[in-house]
Amino acid sequence: VLPVLAIVGRPNVGKSTLVNRILGRREAVVEDVPGVTRDRVSYPGEWAGRRFTLVDTGGWEVDVAGIDARVAEQAEVAIELADAVVFVVDATVGATSTDEDVVRLLRKSKKPVVLCANKVDGPRAEADAAALWNLGLGEPYPVSALHGRGTGDLLDAAMDAL
Ligand code: GDP
Ligand code: MG
Repeated sequence: VLPVLAIVGRPNVGKSTLVNRILGRREAVVEDVPGVTRDRVSYPGEWAGRRFTLVDTGGWEVDVAGIDARVAEQAEVAIELADAVVFVVDATVGATSTDEDVVRLLRKSKKPVVLCANKVDGPRAEADAAALWNLGLGEPYPVSALHGRGTGDLLDAAMDAL
């Protein structure tokens, strides 16, 4: 049985884009608008000669009132099933209260976590990534899932965590 690496984070932070980047092909559905109804989807992943099961999360519906609860719910299930978690935050937005809810779940789970500071498309956004040290999850890895920037270092850290 392969170890499970779950990609967790609130809608629209770039989880599916990161999954496609890791897979090297466009398999996960990327949406410009958050809230497409989908369950967790698993893909066979490989990095540095190691194979793992990559889990994209995104199974919640648009529900303005309940969206935070749904994100937390989905995240909780994914975290439970995972051996290690990549927690994706939109560095250009910064940590939101929903992100902080997920951080609490991550802490409670005691699972190893690698913090992905996504949408760091260029060097000017590095400071946005550094601000995420405040989440208390250790080093934020600056990544542009869209352009592939920083994904190697992120995956190296994820393999260490698995
Ligand atoms: P998810 O809901 O977390 O799975 O997010 P998606 O992967 O569907 O991406 C949401 C939006 O963010 C899409 O419009 C993506 O193109 C965009 N996006 C994802 N990663 C990046 C990134 O690294 N940089 C920028 N600028 N946009 C990104
Ligand atoms: Mg998605």
